[in-house]
Amino acid sequence: MNTQPPEPELSGDIPEPLEHGLYIVATPIGNLGDITVRAVDILRRCDAIACEDTRVTGKLMKHLGLHRPLVRYDDHSSPQSRAKLIDSMRQGSVALVSDAGTPLVSDPGYRLVADAREAGIAVTTLPGACAVIAGLTLSGLPNDRFLFGGFLPVKEKARADVLTELGPVDATLIFYETGPRLTKALSAIEQTLPGRAVSVARELTKLHEECRTGSASELIDHYEAHTPRGEIVLLIAPPGETALHGDPDALLREALDTLKPSQAVAQVAKATGLDRKALYARAMEIGSAKRASDDLS
Ligand code: SAM
Repeated sequence: MNTQPPEPELSGDIPEPLEHGLYIVATPIGNLGDITVRAVDILRRCDAIACEDTRVTGKLMKHLGLHRPLVRYDDHSSPQSRAKLIDSMRQGSVALVSDAGTPLVSDPGYRLVADAREAGIAVTTLPGACAVIAGLTLSGLPNDRFLFGGFLPVKEKARADVLTELGPVDATLIFYETGPRLTKALSAIEQTLPGRAVSVARELTKLHEECRTGSASELIDHYEAHTPRGEIVLLIAPPGETALHGDPDALLREALDTLKPSQAVAQVAKATGLDRKALYARAMEIGSAKRASDDLS
C-alpha cells in the first residue's frame, strides 16, 4: 500500500485518491504539533474517517483545515456497522483514529482491524504519539523491558490482584491512570510493591507536562498536597529498583544523626516504602558500628 505523501498537485486541490483499505492513524495526545506529515496526508485523502467521537476528531480536522466524512465507531458498535465499514474499505479508503494517540492502545479498533484482516483488506499503520511510550521515555526508568497493563482496575481487590500478579515481572510496569484515582493506585502500589521506584508522568506534551519519580508514599504525600489534574501514565520500576534516593543506609545514617532510631526508621520507611522491621534491624547495626568506631577513636 503506497502511503508516501503525494507529489505537489498542479491541478488545484483535488487530492489523489488513496489505495483501498484501512489506515490506522495516530493523532496527538495533547500537543497538536505531534501529528505526522503522513497522517495529515492520509486524513486529507481518505474517503472516510472512523472515529470514537466525531466532535473530538472534528476539532482536529478543523485545526488541520481538512473536511472528510466522519463515521462514529468503537468496538461496541454493532457487527452490522463494522461490516459496513469493511465494505467501505473494499470500495475505498477508511482511516481509523481515536480521540488521542494510537488507536487500539486502550482505545477502539481491535475488532475492526481483526475483521478487516480476516476479510483480506489491506491494512496499514501510521505510527505516532502514544502515551505509554511518551511516559516511558520521559520517566528515566529502565526501558529495556516494559509491560503495558492498560488501565489499572478501579476496584481495590482487582487492582491489588493485578499488582500482585505483575509485580514479580522483570520489567518496568506501565499503566494508564486518572487524576481522581491516582492516590488510591499509589497506596495499592505501596502495599503490594513496597519500596519500588514509581513515576507519575502527567499531561504529556501539554503545557503542564510533569514527570515525578519517588517511592509510592512520597508521591502520595505530594499528590495529597497538590491535586493531580489531567491525564496520567503511572510507571513502576522493575523488582530491585528501589525509589531513588540512593542508598537506604545513607538515608538511615543521616536520619540517625538527629533522630531517635524509631523516628529515623519511620522517616526512612515513609520515604522509601521499605519494610520497617528490616530498616530497624539495619538501624541497630549502623548504631552499634558507629558506637564501636567512636570507642576506637
Ligand atoms: N490511545 C491512547 C495512546 O496512544 O496513548 C490512550 C488512550 S486511553 C483511552 C487514555 C489514557 O491515556 C489517559 O487516561 C491517560 O492515562 C493516558 N494519556 C493519554 N494522553 C496522555 C497525556 N497527554 N499525558 C499522560 N497520559 C495520557
